[in-house]
Amino acid sequence: MIVLHYTGMRDAEAALDRLCDPSAEVSAHYVISPSGEVWSLVQEADRAWHAGAGSWCGIADINSHSLGVELVNTGAQPFPEPQMRCLEALLTSMMERWNIARHQVIAHSDMAPERKEDPGPRFDWRRLDRLSLGFCPDGMGDDLPLAGSLDAIGYPEADADKRLQAFRFRFLPTAQGPEKEADRRRADAVAAAFRAARRDQPKSC
Ligand SMILES: [Zn+2]
Repeated sequence: MIVLHYTGMRDAEAALDRLCDPSAEVSAHYVISPSGEVWSLVQEADRAWHAGAGSWCGIADINSHSLGVELVNTGAQPFPEPQMRCLEALLTSMMERWNIARHQVIAHSDMAPERKEDPGPRFDWRRLDRLSLGFCPDGMGDDLPLAGSLDAIGYPEADADKRLQAFRFRFLPTAQGPEKEADRRRADAVAAAFRAARRDQPKSC
């Protein structure tokens, strides 16, 4: 898997200071600045401490099963074009090296909906999907219970509002307020697409 983050910090220097500070006990494989500079902090074959507690698709020890990429962004800004292009090049090479499928590229908020909001609603998952570097399938399905669809997509058990928020960040970023029929229909379509993607690649999550 690959987990995408934002640093939540004002600039690359502050983020690099924190990620290189042993007492902070956080690290990531890569950091990408808004202007498209990339720093490799941890070898891809080594485990980085970027994901923390959470799970995705039943896998709890995400740090042992993933590469972590930090995008320098406070969370309130758009992700600039040079940063996105750099991310896309990096994803292309990592996915090829480690045989990672597009549906195995996830948000930090996907695996830890109660704790994390990154990379947030401003991150363009549809753009990655168009390039086959991420998964944000189109469409609306049936009006089925939301919890079952979110379980099928891979979300861990969590507070219902937080799970809905994490789902919306990625798949319905303009939605707000309490759960609506559109959330349920969208989640059913996304769940069906994940099932199909995992069927095509049985050993993947
Ligand atoms: Zn994160």
